[in-house]
Amino acid sequence: MTTTTAPARTDAVALATELAGTFAERAAGHDRDGSFPQENIDELVASGYMSMTVPPEHGGGGASLEELCRAQQTLAAACANTAFAVNMHVHGIAMIAGIGGEAATRAYRSIVDDGAVIAGGFSEPGVGGNWWHPTTKAEPVPGGYLLNGRKGFFTGFPAADLLFLSAALTDDRGLPQPVGFLAPKPERGVRVTGEWDAAGMRATGSHSLALEDFFVPADRMVGEPGALPLMFMQGVHWAWCSFASVFLGIARGALDLVVREQRGRTLHVLDRTVAHLPGVQFRVAEMRTRYAAAEAHLYQAVRADHDDAVAADPLGHYIEMSVMKNSVCRLAHEVVTLAMQVQGGSALLSGHPLQRMYRDVVAGLLVPPNSDVTAEWSGKHALGVPVFAEPRWEG
Ligand SMILES: Cc1cc2nc3c(=O)[nH]c(=O)nc-3n(C[C@H](O)[C@H](O)[C@H](O)COP(=O)(O)OP(=O)(O)OC[C@H]3O[C@@H](n4cnc5c(N)ncnc54)[C@H](O)[C@@H]3O)c2cc1C
Repeated sequence: MTTTTAPARTDAVALATELAGTFAERAAGHDRDGSFPQENIDELVASGYMSMTVPPEHGGGGASLEELCRAQQTLAAACANTAFAVNMHVHGIAMIAGIGGEAATRAYRSIVDDGAVIAGGFSEPGVGGNWWHPTTKAEPVPGGYLLNGRKGFFTGFPAADLLFLSAALTDDRGLPQPVGFLAPKPERGVRVTGEWDAAGMRATGSHSLALEDFFVPADRMVGEPGALPLMFMQGVHWAWCSFASVFLGIARGALDLVVREQRGRTLHVLDRTVAHLPGVQFRVAEMRTRYAAAEAHLYQAVRADHDDAVAADPLGHYIEMSVMKNSVCRLAHEVVTLAMQVQGGSALLSGHPLQRMYRDVVAGLLVPPNSDVTAEWSGKHALGVPVFAEPRWEG
């Protein structure tokens, strides 16, 4: 935790733009070594970027969703790993702000005063991305809860001071009640069981963890027991738009890079630059088309009236945001794939930034919301088939 925080600034996009150049220079090294970009996180904290979504009355920047997405997109075009490592922090605070309570107030204080960083763990081995069904157990004990279970893919864990995670309490009927907690990273009770070693997003420190009698004080519960699914539905625009902005940023970075390179590149068999080849032109045009579609979808979702949408149909709102995130990430993946083809074989060389972008953008297809579940819910919702009816498919 760093203690050198600047007063809150509201222009997160300007901060991202200022820091992007340095982060881009460091990106290849962290990717090669699989090392966590702690110095980037420290600089983001010191700049005030990390308090962008803390409400102004608590000393933060009170950034809008559009500002968050534009800023994250800018960071991701330079270093996707850094943007992804702080994704849960920047949108998580906004989601928590929508719920309020003592856990939120304490978190704001430590973020603004002490530069605390949040990482989030909802997915679990055996549950995967089905976030609403944690197998981690929360057992009431005097003064709080003991958490026991396992968490996978805990992005940003090396920098985390606060852990935002899910567990299930058992109610009087013996039924699980999913609940969120926002607790200080403890000295004991959380053990890294697997250091992050992956093909993409290598520098995100997305470790696997075991929670072993992890004591969480009672006032660190976020919302009510059982309210976790509703909490996601009400604040989902913050989450899925933030996720989408990271992967859109990678696509933007790839598009800009490939266009820049082809303008100055010649091959011996050509008497002019590669930019004059029809195949290159058509692919660049296709990249621009898909990028524009992704960008339009994201910012249409960003600018929607979220309060109205939640009030009218919380599940419909969740599904709409989920469809958007999956569509943006799929298009972003296609843009980067086309960029590889435009660049040619040199794109695959380990020294070339495109192969890193290619490995990183795949993660957009894998992170929540699960694309199959989204498609099922979206289709059922549109067709008037009850979304949660069991069995899921008859016949
Ligand atoms: C780089 C990276 C960073 C991540 N960081 C975090 C993080 O910080 N915090 C966090 O909580 N999680 C994080 N995740 C994990 C993520 O949230 C998902 O849990 C995880 O990617 C899901 O993958 P899985 O392999 O567990 O797939 P599963 O969810 O187990 O799915 C396996 C297969 O089954 C299908 N499937 C699964 N459930 C259903 C269903 N109900 N209906 C139909 N089909 C289904 C899927 O489509 C898939 O084909 C991260 C993931 C990645 C890739």
